[in-house]
Amino acid sequence: MDFELDDVQQEFVRLAHNFGEKKLAPTIMERDHKGIYDENLIQELLDMGMGGIYFPEQYAGAEADVLSYILVVEELAKYDAGVSITLSGTVSLCANPIWQFGTDAQKEKYLTPLCEGTKLGAFGLTEPNAGTDASGQQTVATKDENGDYILNGSKIFITNGGAADIYVVFAMTDKSKGNHGITAFIIEKDMPGFTFGKKEDKMGIHTSQTEELIFQDVKVPKENLLGQEGKGFKIAMMTLDGGRIGVAAQALGIAEAALADAVEYSKQRVQFGRPICKFQSVSFKLADMKMQIEAARNLVYKAATRKQAGIPFSIDAAIAKRVASDVAMRVSTEAVQIFGGYGYSEEYPAARHMRDAKITQIYEGTNEVQLMVTAGSLLR
Ligand SMILES: Cc1cc2nc3c(=O)[nH]c(=O)nc-3n(C[C@H](O)[C@H](O)[C@H](O)COP(=O)(O)OP(=O)(O)OC[C@H]3O[C@@H](n4cnc5c(N)ncnc54)[C@H](O)[C@@H]3O)c2cc1C
Repeated sequence: MDFELDDVQQEFVRLAHNFGEKKLAPTIMERDHKGIYDENLIQELLDMGMGGIYFPEQYAGAEADVLSYILVVEELAKYDAGVSITLSGTVSLCANPIWQFGTDAQKEKYLTPLCEGTKLGAFGLTEPNAGTDASGQQTVATKDENGDYILNGSKIFITNGGAADIYVVFAMTDKSKGNHGITAFIIEKDMPGFTFGKKEDKMGIHTSQTEELIFQDVKVPKENLLGQEGKGFKIAMMTLDGGRIGVAAQALGIAEAALADAVEYSKQRVQFGRPICKFQSVSFKLADMKMQIEAARNLVYKAATRKQAGIPFSIDAAIAKRVASDVAMRVSTEAVQIFGGYGYSEEYPAARHMRDAKITQIYEGTNEVQLMVTAGSLLR
């Protein structure tokens, strides 16, 4: 497959690169150390049209392709992995399911502002007792006499929680039906009874916001049902298929940044009278990191290209996510090794890359889930 980038894709990479250089790089160390989610920076990113890269112009999207979006996530992650997942949270996990499963009226009302960048989105599936096993949803939606829904329960670990305006949320409408009793809804931040709980104190991606969602007798109009009743599990799984390509791109960007920093450091750090890159054990380590990154890149771009073409991509996304995130973890750990003691110090970026890489093996389906998905396809 040829990954020669076209003019539009190159332009998006250029935009993301300039934003990374000028807006993210100068403050990343401080924002990471202090755990600052900077809504002004996110707004600037959304003002550039990044919330609607591959959605139709009809809904204020840029109508570019999925690979353009994936390239942007990768580029941003080189500078700030937290900002890259903030974008992925709104595009892959909120705008995408509304585009794919929403009615025309829902697209008009919710997808358009997400594409315009006047609203930020989020996705609420995980609960304290329903992580990998999403079928164990305890949030419930019961119908009232008018056919509207009353939502009760909570969601944890939600990216963009508290910051987002629009939430795609999953709840049980019929417990007796298991997976087939789960339904998706579009929830607005200011619906009465919808509040936010614990803000997560995380190992990495400190510049993203992760919060608990709490629903107490939230009245959700029947117009906000996303798809059909009982189809929520399918919507969640199909949404995560796309989201995994975003996480894989984030992992790729983190790995590339870790390698670039390690290359630079190895040229400057002198031991035994010469730069450490002159030791073959260091230069081979760098070469091996590069090889792993290039192998992962092919998988990530391939999954994006298949999604764009409308070809089944769920296995490709699972493979890309697992391989790219494991590469990010290995490469960032090796980068710390090359930095030696300075790699263990928070004064240098190597430690941040390693902390940020870890989450890519966990969210949007742990890497064990990606093995389950891939094994399932082999053993059908
Ligand atoms: C920073 C952050 C952001 C997140 N953002 C979101 C978000 O925006 N929206 C959202 O809905 N969720 C979000 N999550 C939740 C995330 O997707 C879950 O944490 C993840 O799916 C794992 O669920 P869990 O934490 O309950 O772990 P568990 O499901 O309890 O898994 C624990 C371990 O057991 C393993 N395991 C479980 N079942 C099996 C099995 N059958 N076979 C083999 N191994 C198994 C897992 O792989 C894992 O290693 C986020 C989490 C974090 C930390």
